[in-house]
Amino acid sequence: MGEQWSGSTRKQRLPRDWDERRDTVRDRAGGRCQATMRDGTRCVEVGTDCDHIVHGDNHALSNLQWLCSWHHDKKTAREALEARRFTRVPSARKPREKHPGLR
Ligand SMILES: [Zn+2]
Repeated sequence: MGEQWSGSTRKQRLPRDWDERRDTVRDRAGGRCQATMRDGTRCVEVGTDCDHIVHGDNHALSNLQWLCSWHHDKKTAREALEARRFTRVPSARKPREKHPGLR
């Protein structure tokens, strides 16, 4: 513990009552991971991490969920990937042109 935060400024941005919110989120989830598997069933792992559903500074309970470390890692990795993609290729979202032969 403690070491995993090195190189991150995230902890400093958390609200002062974070531990309380974290407990609330955990209790709300019954201590279990809230992620949904591909087949629509809920993850069976015991949750360990309080995650922001939408990455950022919204610490409202509605934006928090309880995840197992596996799902949290997976989500964090995906967010990092998306953040990189958005900054590197700004023109990636070019609208598709209509086929001139249609209609
Ligand atoms: Zn999980």
